[in-house]
Amino acid sequence: NSIVAHDPEPGRVRVAVRLRPRNDEDLASDADFADCVELLPELKKLSLKKNNWSSESYKFDEVFTESASQKRIYEVVAKPVVESVLSGYNGTIMAYGQTGTGKTYTVGNLGKNDASERGIIVRAVEDLIANTSLSNESVEFSYVQLYMETIQDLLAPEKVNIPVVEDAKTGEVLLPGASVIKIHHLDHFMELLQCGEANRHAANTKLNTSSSRSHAILMVSVKRPIVGKGKNVTCEKVAATEAQSDMGVDKIRKGKLLIVDLAGSERIDKSGSEGLLLEEAKFINLSLTALGKCINALAESSPHIPTRDSKLTRILRDSFGGSARTSLIITIGPSARHHAETTSTIMFGQRAM
Ligand code: ADP
Ligand code: MG
Repeated sequence: NSIVAHDPEPGRVRVAVRLRPRNDEDLASDADFADCVELLPELKKLSLKKNNWSSESYKFDEVFTESASQKRIYEVVAKPVVESVLSGYNGTIMAYGQTGTGKTYTVGNLGKNDASERGIIVRAVEDLIANTSLSNESVEFSYVQLYMETIQDLLAPEKVNIPVVEDAKTGEVLLPGASVIKIHHLDHFMELLQCGEANRHAANTKLNTSSSRSHAILMVSVKRPIVGKGKNVTCEKVAATEAQSDMGVDKIRKGKLLIVDLAGSERIDKSGSEGLLLEEAKFINLSLTALGKCINALAESSPHIPTRDSKLTRILRDSFGGSARTSLIITIGPSARHHAETTSTIMFGQRAM
């Protein structure tokens, strides 16, 4: 039985910053520029250049330099959330940042050729499977994309316009009609995830848009029988057999984990865009603004979290705040070329602090 560490600030969103390593483009164009950020990981601070003379420093829950490994990111940012889900709570892990800064690498990378490159999703599901080996335990998932306030099933892309509903009794957020698949093995899950990615790509190509204009949402439900505190594995097995013979609903605890690869946060020049691009920009702005307001309300311990303003925040409703644990990882690039976007990403992350 995993024990969730005492949480001094229940409900607040934990924010980690991750800096992407320099890429060729950065190297080619940054000849005259120094980095626009300096990271002070020991102090959990980041210093952002304002101009050539001054900079401003910001504190976060965690600060990861470009050399941080995928494993470390998982252990620090995601594992506490996964553990609380195994204990029957809900939790959310989200990646926010400009397109090209490493959201998908951080969250969704499959690491097919090199397991050390695996992102949060694969590691989280691996941990969930490892901790739910009894016959009356289960891990199930759905995988959807939210594009222009419309939800599409990425495991069955013909299913579009999936509603977000709330169970009247339990308050549980549901996506009726979205495929729910039981996970048995990690390999099987990874195949399905890859298939979902391919569907996402195909759907976006058809619409002539980019995946970075939609939010990808993985929803994992974990069901485990309730076992008394402090029992060892043998006792757990006995207790589980008992629970099985009397499968009362109240004997099962359910946790839900949401992992969200958010749409690119970059501002689209509204004056220069038109048609679809402008519409997309409006919807992304709507959902990210709504998310920012909720994160802000949680940071201020407000009794009212305004989750009704967008589908994104309605999906998150039962998975952040209250007893749920939430981690936000904001991704940035080092280049001064993107100073404005990097500043805006850092400001978004600061809303939780
Ligand atoms: P986003 O999803 O935010 O648009 P990606 O995850 O697709 O960004 O990352 C853009 C590129 O940078 C990809 O080629 C990715 O492999 C690479 N990349 C991002 N973060 C890292 C990292 N921490 N280490 C190595 N490569 C990275
Ligand atoms: Mg991406």
